[in-house]
Parts: sequence; C-alpha cells; structure tokens
Amino acid sequence: DQSDGASGENEIIAGTAPGFQPFEMNRDGELVGFDIDHLEAVVDETDYELTGWEEFEFDTLIQALNNGNIDVIAAAMTINDERREQIAFTDPYYSANQSVLVQTGGGFQPSDLDDLAGRTLGAQSGTTGEGIIEDEVEDPDYQSYENYVYAVQELEQGRIEAIVIDQPVAESFEADREVEIAFTFETGEEYGLGVRQDDDDLREALNEGIAAVQESGEYEEITQEWFGE
Ligand code: GLN
Repeated sequence: DQSDGASGENEIIAGTAPGFQPFEMNRDGELVGFDIDHLEAVVDETDYELTGWEEFEFDTLIQALNNGNIDVIAAAMTINDERREQIAFTDPYYSANQSVLVQTGGGFQPSDLDDLAGRTLGAQSGTTGEGIIEDEVEDPDYQSYENYVYAVQELEQGRIEAIVIDQPVAESFEADREVEIAFTFETGEEYGLGVRQDDDDLREALNEGIAAVQESGEYEEITQEWFGE
C-alpha cells in the first residue's frame, strides 16, 4: 500500500477545521480540542507517527485528504454514505445529534423543524446541519458560512434567525456566546476519522488505536477534559 510523497512510510499528517469547539479550536494561537487529544492518543497506540496538523475550512477537508495534503481527517466528521463515496472512515468514536441555536432573548423560539420554514438560517458549508436545512426545512432563506464561528456572530447580531449545528458544539457556544439552544433533534450521527479509500493499513491501525484508547480509560479522561461536568 503506497503512501504519498514527502513523508516517511509511517509518518502521517492530520487535517482539521478549527472553530468547532470543543472538538477543534484555536486558543492563544494553539490548535486544541477533543479531536486533537483523541487523535494523538489513538496514533500513539499505533506504529504510525503523527508529524503535524494542517488547518482547512471544513468543506475542503475531503479534497485535501484525496490530494495527499493530509493523511487523516479529525474534524468531528459524521460518517455517512455520501462521504463514503469519496473517503473511508474508521470505526465511530463519538455520537451526536443536531441542535437549533437562536439569539439569546431574541424572541424567536422554534420548537421543531417545521417552525423554521421560511426563516433566515445559517450553517457551515458542507456539514450535515446544512444538509438538514436544505432537505428538511421548507423554503429556508439559507446562508452558508465558511465556518460556524461566523454564523454564530451573525446570529448574535440578529442578522440570521437560527443555526443548525451539532449538539455538543451548540452547547459549547451556548456557554460562551449570546446564543441559546431552542431545541435538539435526534439524527444519530457518529463521527469517524477519515482516511483515503485505499489506505487500509492506516484505517485498521486507527481502528485498533480507537479501541485501545477506549479500553485504557484515556477516552474517558479526554472526554472529561473537554466536556467535563
Ligand atoms: N458533524 C458535522 C458534519 O460532519 C459537522 C462537522 C463540523 O462542522 N466540523 O457535517
């Protein structure tokens, strides 16, 4: 199995999309978060060496992977069939649903997707949240953002009425910003690490690493660190 260009045989580079707290974000100029700690712990269990992280907009990660710019995606990416046409996923490492965020005290209090019909809605380009707006909301006035951080800013300013976003990230923004969760709905999404379709050795090694990190209790420690009650 041929690994690409510059890096040594067992050296891999990870790609992520910061702005998705607490999974990946820049804090004091440093890339931190659940996915960073988790992938590093997972790779530590393998014969691979993680030599660096590259940052991308979420909707360019799959291209970066298939171009060989990176070898693994760790970006809270939901495993789904559409993406499986382009990349392969490891076993799941995190489960999530979707939430609808509104401006705190803004007066708009939707309680289900029907209430979003015809409203001005935002999401991050290429996400499952965007897919829900496009497929399940009637006649939305949809604004696509490169990053959820910009969407949250627009929501705080009252320039859009709601955002559809993964629940754990919605909770994190709710804690920090002038936005609140109006409701959460079940999507049963599971996040996986993304690898190239022909990279079976890496995928299998990462699967073993994911299991080992869960068994050792490290997964629980990393979860406590980023989601701790
Ligand atoms: N889990 C969502 C998806 O895969 C959002 C991921 C993200 O924005 N980083 O589309």
